[in-house]
Amino acid sequence: MGFMIFRLIIFIAIVWFGLRILKAYNQKKLTKNSAETNAEADQTPEQMVQCRFCNLHLPQKDAVKHEKLWFCCHEHLNRFLAHGPEKK
Ligand SMILES: [Zn+2]
Repeated sequence: MGFMIFRLIIFIAIVWFGLRILKAYNQKKLTKNSAETNAEADQTPEQMVQCRFCNLHLPQKDAVKHEKLWFCCHEHLNRFLAHGPEKK
């Protein structure tokens, strides 16, 4: 009888320990997810810049920077340097 109780205690201990690990793991995952969400929130609102050549608005991360000027692509940067702003 004493042996059965001992086995029961061991079983409960294993289950309890397993649940604790599971809980800790879930909490860690949640913390990581919320941290990622915060990082994404920090990036918004996205900084928009205007192409100096064609006046196109685009996110700063997709733009090409030359000194203080922004361009939508390297081609427009090169054309601006060669010819100045696009003439309409
Ligand atoms: Zn452009």
